[in-house]
Amino acid sequence: MKRHIFRSICMVAFVAVISLFILITGRLYSYFTGVQFQQLKVQTELASKAVNDEGMDYFKHLSKSVDYRITWIDKNGDVLFDNQELASKMENHSQREEFKEAKKHGVGQSDRYSNTLMRRSLYCAQQLNDGSVLRLSSDQNSVLSLALNMLQPIAGMVLLVILFSLYFANRVSQRIVQPLNEMDLDHPLSKDHYEELSPLLHRIDLQQRQLKEQEDALRHKQYEFDTVTSNMNEGLALLNPEGIILFLNRKAKLLLGANDESVGKDILMVNRSLKVHDLLTQAQAGKKEECLLDVNGETYQMLASPIMGSHNVRGIALLILNVTEKIQAEALRREFTGNVSHELKSPLHTISGCAELLMNHMVKPGDEPRFVSQIYNEAQRMIALVEDIIKLSHLDEGAQDMTYEDVEALPFCQSIVDRLQAKADKSKVTLSLQGDATSLHVIPQLFESIIYNLCDNGIKYNKENGKVDITVKDELDFVTISIQDTGIGIPREDHQRIFERFYRVDKSHSKEVGGTGLGLSIVKHAVQVLHAQLSVDSIPNKGTTMQIRFLKNQ
Ligand code: ATP
Ligand code: MG
Repeated sequence: MKRHIFRSICMVAFVAVISLFILITGRLYSYFTGVQFQQLKVQTELASKAVNDEGMDYFKHLSKSVDYRITWIDKNGDVLFDNQELASKMENHSQREEFKEAKKHGVGQSDRYSNTLMRRSLYCAQQLNDGSVLRLSSDQNSVLSLALNMLQPIAGMVLLVILFSLYFANRVSQRIVQPLNEMDLDHPLSKDHYEELSPLLHRIDLQQRQLKEQEDALRHKQYEFDTVTSNMNEGLALLNPEGIILFLNRKAKLLLGANDESVGKDILMVNRSLKVHDLLTQAQAGKKEECLLDVNGETYQMLASPIMGSHNVRGIALLILNVTEKIQAEALRREFTGNVSHELKSPLHTISGCAELLMNHMVKPGDEPRFVSQIYNEAQRMIALVEDIIKLSHLDEGAQDMTYEDVEALPFCQSIVDRLQAKADKSKVTLSLQGDATSLHVIPQLFESIIYNLCDNGIKYNKENGKVDITVKDELDFVTISIQDTGIGIPREDHQRIFERFYRVDKSHSKEVGGTGLGLSIVKHAVQVLHAQLSVDSIPNKGTTMQIRFLKNQ
């Protein structure tokens, strides 16, 4: 700005100086020409008088140092005398303008310019009494030479103008710029300012407000996005088409082994897994791709989706989902189906074999009841198995149709004991029930399944003359029911596995006692549905205690 002001001031001053110079020079030149003509005229008059009186004698006494030229011309135009040249050598002057004019009017004057000498000659002529003409001339510098002579002072003046312009530009620009520098652009309308800047500052103020609103909205959206993505259980990563990480949420960082500095880096530098590499290559080619990754013992499904522009891939979105449960559930389902088929196959084979023997009369007379009872037992086993499976699948679906009821714990357990008494007698096991009279808010069918299965196990996996004690305890907020037996016990490593479907510690023994391995799975599910807690305490060869803790008010 300073330079601009300086240049403008300089230019104005320069133009002013030059114009003034031309104007003054022109005026002065014409003024001095007038003065010089006047002087020349006076001199011509005086000289004419003298020549009229003295004739040629006047010229003899003429000083050599006169600063004008004097020429005496006869009436025909021939030069009679010239103080600067030989008269005989000079040409006829009859055609000279000043001569002609003097001859006509008595006096005449003219001026001529010599380009070679860059000078102008002024002529003044007067007719003498004898008809001759006396002419005086003096030289005058041309305007150009006058200007050239003035060049030095003019240059000095221009220099002065430049210095003055510099100083002035400095001061003016400082004075102009100072309010601009002091302007608070964050609050453009807070201070007084140049009126001319008002529209601009109002515009800045408006744009700033709009920008702030947009920034707030953007920040709010970013906050929402961050909150949602950081609390996502799935990993989310956004990459550019070259695979450079643009965004990673918390879970994705964890799963890909990345950190805050990973943004801006190539994903393959962060995670060198071959699967990720292949996935990325496919996504870069515009194909959706997925793969499974094992991280910290869990299985994750990684989905890569290309984000398409009009023609090319603009970016890649990576979504990482935990599919451990899904995979396990699928495996369990497969295992379950296999187990069910297997469990159904054995009794069916037995039934089919016995029936075939009976049909073909290949059974010894008298043995028929044994075969028939085997068919009956196997059929019962199958019914029990199918019932258990139905119960389990019902529980898997959440047992929504079952309703909670208040149940008196002791009488309810007593009815189960009564039902199992015959079985206990057969196995020579004593069943006993004791405890506090209390009520429970439970789903009776599920409560019954729990107590029945646990007591049944207590009898089945007991020893001769063993005991199964059922104790109901009222503990203010809870009711705990313990089923304690003096049976074969469960090895420590099997304490959790016994709740798996079809899991049996000793398969042959379980089969002997008619177990299919579904009882405790039903118990576990029923306990979960009733929001109760189940604990196992067992010592091999000493006995097992299963304890269920029910919340009293739920
Ligand atoms: P089901 O109950 O379906 O007739 P099951 O009794 O074999 O068959 P679960 O009740 O699920 O199946 O029990 C699983 C396994 O846990 C049993 O096979 C047995 O090996 C072991 N088990 C369960 N309860 C006891 C117990 N009280 N004492 C010793 N072992 C037990
Ligand atoms: Mg059982």
